Amino acid sequence: MVVPTRPPPVTRFAPSPNGSLHLGHAWSAIVAHDLAAERGGRFLLRIEDIDGARSLADKPDEFRRDLEWLGLEWEEVPAQSTRLASYEDAARALLARGLLYRCTCTRREIEEAGALIGPEGPVYPGTCRHRPPDAARPAALRLDLARAIFEAGDVVWEDEVRGAQRADPRAFGDVVLVRKDAPASYHLATTLDDAADGVTLVTRGADLFTASHLHRLLQALLGLPVPRWHHHALLIDETGAKLAKRRGSPSLAMRREAGEDGRALATRLRAAQFPAGIALATA
Ligand code: GLU
Repeated sequence: MVVPTRPPPVTRFAPSPNGSLHLGHAWSAIVAHDLAAERGGRFLLRIEDIDGARSLADKPDEFRRDLEWLGLEWEEVPAQSTRLASYEDAARALLARGLLYRCTCTRREIEEAGALIGPEGPVYPGTCRHRPPDAARPAALRLDLARAIFEAGDVVWEDEVRGAQRADPRAFGDVVLVRKDAPASYHLATTLDDAADGVTLVTRGADLFTASHLHRLLQALLGLPVPRWHHHALLIDETGAKLAKRRGSPSLAMRREAGEDGRALATRLRAAQFPAGIALATA
């Protein structure tokens, strides 16, 4: 029997510079790094800085020092802020195919319309889908999801951890692909960049598993190459919540500046020896 062999994978760590990295990010970077290193592949760093005012200028350098401190080696690819033209081109093409529509609704209007709650908050009830855009108000571009699913047909994807999947992005509803304040949303930018960077194994936390259904749909619509995915288990705190910047988990920069040995920390994380109060969520 011939066992098919895969080329060495290209993985990535794609942090947004809107706050310091914490232990959960270290774990994510180590997993992505090691999956590439174990199989002779490449590990990329991409700074996801399309968030305008929320992107902090000093963070990319801090992130590089953090990764170095953990003993990781990477290749850095251009930051998202240098790729805006590619997002605009893709959005223009989708718009021309009737797959996007302008939406001028505010968050409050959407909430007041009694929207269901999806993976990213209220699911858009479709108010602007069939009305002429109000040129006087700023507009986002939303995906006409039903039309997109119809056009893409049946699409499948594979997660190394959870196996074969049939893309089902319906939980997102008519998701925003171009924000009012930025030339892309996370979903569009990341999907385009992973393709442009030749990422073949998209490695990230299990909290983004649902997003991959949508990204797979976007790949089908845009004719992009299809990677495999590896959604790793998340580090959680004693309350069961995932570690997050906003909950004030100690940052890697603070640990580094306090003189902690980053390589030793990475070794312990690899051995699943987590600091007190931290565990790996298996579900
Ligand atoms: N910039 C995203 C974040 O920091 C990356 C998510 C991903 O890996 O796709 O959460």
